[in-house]
Parts: sequence; C-alpha cells; structure tokens
Amino acid sequence: MSQPPRSPSILELYPEETREAAALLKQAVPLMMRHAIAPNPVHYALWYTYSKGSEPELNRRLDKAVEDFDVFPPDTAVKLFRDYIIRAELDEARAGQQQVIELVDDIEGDVSRSVIGSQNYQHSLNHGLSALQEPIIDDLPSVLSELQESTQLMQDQQEKFLYRLRAAQEEIKHLRGQLERAHLAATLDSLTRVFNRHAFTRLLEQALSESHEGLALVILDIDHFKQFNDQYGHPLGDRVLQHVGQLMRELLPPSAFAARYGGEEFCVVLRGCTDLAGVRNFAEQLRHKIQALRVKVRRTDQVLDSITASFGCALAEAGDSLEALLTRADDALYQAKRNGRNQVHPAAGESMLSA
Ligand code: GH3
Ligand code: MG
Ligand code: MG
Repeated sequence: MSQPPRSPSILELYPEETREAAALLKQAVPLMMRHAIAPNPVHYALWYTYSKGSEPELNRRLDKAVEDFDVFPPDTAVKLFRDYIIRAELDEARAGQQQVIELVDDIEGDVSRSVIGSQNYQHSLNHGLSALQEPIIDDLPSVLSELQESTQLMQDQQEKFLYRLRAAQEEIKHLRGQLERAHLAATLDSLTRVFNRHAFTRLLEQALSESHEGLALVILDIDHFKQFNDQYGHPLGDRVLQHVGQLMRELLPPSAFAARYGGEEFCVVLRGCTDLAGVRNFAEQLRHKIQALRVKVRRTDQVLDSITASFGCALAEAGDSLEALLTRADDALYQAKRNGRNQVHPAAGESMLSA
C-alpha cells in the first residue's frame, strides 16, 4: 500500500555531523553578535540556517530585517522561525489539525519568554563586559556572580523550552498517527479492507502515468452472487466478500495493490509482469483459494462449498488509458463468464503462455 507523505524529523532537518554543525554555529554566532541579536534558541536556529544557506528566502528576509531595525524584533524572529524552521511540521498540521496550531501558539509563548530572558541575559552580559573594561575591577566577584546567575537563568529557560519542544514533537507524532488513520479510512473499503474504487482509480492512473511496463490488471467477479444472496441472505454474502478481501490481501505480492471496484467485483494491479503467464498464475491461485472457501450458515450449520469467481486479465500497453486497460480486462472477464465461469481468461490477442 502506498504510504502518505511524511514530514521530515528534526534529524532530517539538521542532518549535519557534529563537526559541520559546530562550524555552522561558529559562523552564525559572530553574525548574531555583529547585529546585536540576543542569543536564544529561536535566533540560534535562524542564524544557523542562515549560515547553512539552505533557505535562500530566509537569508533574504534576515538580511532585510537587520537592515531595517536597530534591534532585531522578537516578533519577526518568531514569525521567521515558524515560517522557515518548523514550516514542514506546520504544513501538514494545517491540513487537518487545529490542535497543532494551538500547540505551536503555546510554544510561541515559551519562545517569547525565552526571548525576554535572553534580552535580560544580553543586558547582563553587556553590563559585565563594560565593567570588565573598567581599569579598576574591584567589583569583579559581583560582576562574575551576576553573570553566573544570568547564565543559570538562561539555561533554565532554554531547558524548559527544550522540554516543551519535545512534548510538542510527541503531540505532533500522535496527531500524525490520527491523520494516517483518517487517510486509511478514506482510501479503504470498510467491508473488505482493500482499497476502495476511488483510491484504486487514483493509484492505477498514477502507475500508468509513470510507466505501463510490467503493469497488469486482473478483474474478478463472484459467480452467481445474486442467487447466493437470495438463497442465504445478504449478511452471509457480506461475509463472503470479507473472506475474498482477506484472501487477496494474503496473496498480494508486495508491489501489487488490490481494490473492491464495486459490489462483488474486485481488481488487482500487479507489477513486474513480462507476460500473462505470471498474471495467470496469480489469478489461478486466487481462484483456487476462493473455491476452497467454506462458509457456515449459522442458522442451519450448513457448510457452503460452492463459492467461485471468474477472472479477466490484461497487460498494460504503451499509451493505455485507465479506461482502455479496464475495458480489455473487463471484456476478458465477460469471456470467462460466457465460457462457464470459475475460470481465468486473458484479454483478446494476449496469450497465457510464457514468452
Ligand atoms: P454473475 O455470475 O454473472 O456475476 O452473476 P451475479 O449474480 O454475481 O451478478 P449480478 O450482477 O446479477 O449480481 C451481483 C450481485 O451482487 C447483486 C447484489 O445482490 C450483490 N452484491 C453487490 N454488492 C453487495 C454487497 O455489498 N453485499 C452483498 N451481500 N451482496 C452484494
Ligand atoms: Mg457476479
Ligand atoms: Mg458483478
């Protein structure tokens, strides 16, 4: 089954080795000092990314911000942080989860507090530095102790921020799981747990647009199913459909996908097929498994052994549209029905023999 797109993790956002990261930080810190930018996690992240040069638009906006303002505005920093550093996380969240936005607002509060803390820290540093430049430094112990206190305060705030960030990451992971489940619910047929028609159409169209090479389609339809329902009831018919779905999932090669196309009709798309012989092999296995199904009528304890299905298969050809491929496989299915059902039939002009 195809996986939904995934946002990058922090490690993917910052894949640099320690030495490379240290070198980038070494470039970032003088830049921050030159523009009198308070040392806090938001600014570190921004200027680290600036030094890395991976977000040219961020560099342009940072250049403009330091040109326009004497003091780098915390609001701008937080906005740039949201837009360029945690953007990937937010993009996905915005798609469906208001909760994430609230969460980030929360973090923003922490960041703002951290920014204020950093400004105080910078103030202490400046104060300490000018005191150290005085010729008489009688007051050195108190200057140092003041610096030590500010550093401790700063460290506490950054630890708190880091803790909140980790909690937020956990929460985002949880929400991503919810999104994934919602995505599955929207693409799977709830009765048979194979793809629904909508997802199938999208996947097959995508596969055909990539390459027709090695692509094959199998369509199967349960034989005399109306009669089965009439005789044993719709709920038992549903159970048969569930069993067929399960058999398909069990037999499916890893690169293939299966779907309920409608009613009692299913499709399988196989890849890597050089001729119809392999496709037939797969279809025959499934046909045998369906024929071997035994379902029990609960009311009477009668065991039914009469379920069969007919199959049509076709190889994709260059320039095939979804409709053209479906029609060829469907015509082959019709032939299988006409020839007496419970059999596999190839599309017209195609041979089941190995090339
Ligand atoms: P054939 O061998 O020619 O395919 O005959 P058939 O009776 O299977 O074909 P037909 O198209 O006449 O009937 C299909 C039946 O499938 C009709 C309907 O009752 C049944 N069916 C469609 N969807 C469902 C479903 O979700 N649950 C159940 N139990 N039956 C369904
Ligand atoms: Mg049928
Ligand atoms: Mg049918």
